[in-house]
Amino acid sequence: MEADRVYNFNPGPGTLPLDVLKEAQAEFLNFNHTGMSILEISHRAPAYAAVHAQAKADIKELMGLGDDYEVLFMTGGGSTQFALVPMNFATKEHPGSYVLSGSFAEKAYKEAAHLGVGEIIASSKEGGYRHVPTQDELRIDPNAAYVHVCYNNTIYGTEYHYVPDTKGVPLIADMSSDMLSRPVDFKKFDLIYAGVQKNLGPAGVVLVVAKKSFIENSPESLPTMFRYNTFLKKDSLYNTPPAFCIYMVGKTAAWIKAQGGLAAMEKLNKKKSALVYDVIDNSNGFYRGHAEPASRSFMNVTFRLPSEELEKKFVAEALEHGLSGVKGHRSVGGMRTSLYNAMPYEGAVALADFMEKFQKANA
Ligand SMILES: *Cc1c(COP(=O)(O)O)cnc(C)c1O
Repeated sequence: MEADRVYNFNPGPGTLPLDVLKEAQAEFLNFNHTGMSILEISHRAPAYAAVHAQAKADIKELMGLGDDYEVLFMTGGGSTQFALVPMNFATKEHPGSYVLSGSFAEKAYKEAAHLGVGEIIASSKEGGYRHVPTQDELRIDPNAAYVHVCYNNTIYGTEYHYVPDTKGVPLIADMSSDMLSRPVDFKKFDLIYAGVQKNLGPAGVVLVVAKKSFIENSPESLPTMFRYNTFLKKDSLYNTPPAFCIYMVGKTAAWIKAQGGLAAMEKLNKKKSALVYDVIDNSNGFYRGHAEPASRSFMNVTFRLPSEELEKKFVAEALEHGLSGVKGHRSVGGMRTSLYNAMPYEGAVALADFMEKFQKANA
């Protein structure tokens, strides 16, 4: 670690690979012999076109997807996708089915409900979203336009460890906080979206990966920029794209490839989260994990301490140890330590060590 940097456990915007930040810094003032920064060049310039194409190609390669899928770069964050999905695909006759597994899943459902085209087919809200609904809990509606799931619940620290069988209904996933963190059978999904600021880049672009056949016919009644097929037809260049964000996502994708791809990311992310979960499980109840073990997230580890006073102390002392951003979301309380791809193994070791020492001093 650089001397003046901390281990950043923030949930989002989250930590980025140091190598990626340094590369961007090194080429900032004169991007690829243009004499300009990437912030200043035209999105139609060849130097940018190469960045755009390479980012798409690397993402598809990492996901193991072929020509029947397209990578889109959209804006408005994951929150805009919550609305665009029902606007593009759901109708009163064929509603969107929603699985409620946390706050962001609820927000997605609310946008569909606002349009009168949403239905809930499973929920783990009772008990405080401690698990992801299992396959058996899903009441699949064969008449639905799609099933929407939130694959990693950033706030509650739960994650899907299976791909839902939707009995032929198209599957849509919000993967904002675990996109490209592990291999998934992505071919089973018709559309995946991810605000990149959790695991892949700076805030400002949403990565959408979709089956071309699923998005080629958007309703003509929608404004141009609200239709997925506009982005499909125009290679995400109908309007000015957030070029710098896409450039950073491209660099992060290349970095993931260099680390050994998604299999290597999964191995690392499992190892890191296991360190922290082991401390929780061996703490005799000093640390209480929020998620049920079968639904535990490899990305966001959530836990409580015996009192709010100790929780405040934990946050303050963690920071003194160079561990930043460990405070949990107000709806769960306690701690949330985010262990995204770019969090080095050493960061998780430092966190687990600190947790053990803190327990000894305060139990
Ligand atoms: C952060 C987050 C969102 C919201 O993303 P914005 O880009 O802030 O709109 C949506 N879904 C999940 C799973 C998230 O973690």
